[in-house]
Amino acid sequence: MKPSFEDVSSERRQLMSKIRGTNTSIEVLCRKYLFARGFRYRKNVRSLPGTPDIVLNKYKTVIFVNGCFWHHHEGCKKARIPKTHVDFWQKKIDKNLSNDQLHKQQLEFLGWQVITIWECNLTRKLFEQTMKEVIDKIIHFK
Ligand SMILES: [Zn+2]
Repeated sequence: MKPSFEDVSSERRQLMSKIRGTNTSIEVLCRKYLFARGFRYRKNVRSLPGTPDIVLNKYKTVIFVNGCFWHHHEGCKKARIPKTHVDFWQKKIDKNLSNDQLHKQQLEFLGWQVITIWECNLTRKLFEQTMKEVIDKIIHFK
């Protein structure tokens, strides 16, 4: 039996709203940072595998800004499966994970550099360092 929205706690509901496409706040932070440093990009490009959040044509680089729970950031405490409705969550997350892997392969096959930015690396404390590393990868690709 699938849990309905009524069954899940508000915390869980918050997590559910963090599905790609509705979770915009951390993406916006990353975009603003890049924009302020002169990078120009396209957003949510549907013509590319996985609809990357940020696409930098000039650098042949795509960026996914991933929620740790939904995209199962390995070893991350934010990625722990809830103790209730385990099968439900496991199935959903497994599906996301295999999609992510497939899309990454497809993009790399097409010649794109794929950068994943994890939610947990965008805390106030880590944001600057994370984005500096991202820019380093962007400008040094090929
Ligand atoms: Zn994480």
